[in-house]
Amino acid sequence: MVESYMFGIWTWEELSSWYLTLPAYGQVLCLLAAFALIALVVALVYYIIKGVAYLVYYILKGVAYLVGGIFYGIYKLFEALYYLLTGKERPKKVEEVSTTPIEKVIIVQEVKAKVEPTPLYCSECGSEITDTMSQQLDMSGIAYCAHCGKGYKSGFIEIEG
Ligand SMILES: [Zn+2]
Repeated sequence: MVESYMFGIWTWEELSSWYLTLPAYGQVLCLLAAFALIALVVALVYYIIKGVAYLVYYILKGVAYLVGGIFYGIYKLFEALYYLLTGKERPKKVEEVSTTPIEKVIIVQEVKAKVEPTPLYCSECGSEITDTMSQQLDMSGIAYCAHCGKGYKSGFIEIEG
């Protein structure tokens, strides 16, 4: 009989006969206690499983990092061996970094060029187009050379007259 070993020191028969001798409220209390015990066990099992799952997860994660580190180390070792045996020079990463400031300088120069355009000259008399002329051109779209009176439309396109 499996039941006779269920509660260790008590057999099922002993326990059931003891249960039946109890008064009604005692039986209810016993039942509630049994349910509480079951709930507690279920919760405990749940947290144990959860804890074990977390443990396994972090162990696996740690192992993954370790394996990754080992492979990276092996890769670096073989890379070092490769350069050692072939006598080739390692490609310097410094060169890649050094290109960035140059690009920045070029951009800054381009921006400056946009802000300060090279001075324009009148195609008729050769005198420099003044700032007031440029401003007038921007506002009205038409400006005339201060020296010879040649007309220009916006964008310094020559106009007749
Ligand atoms: Zn002019």
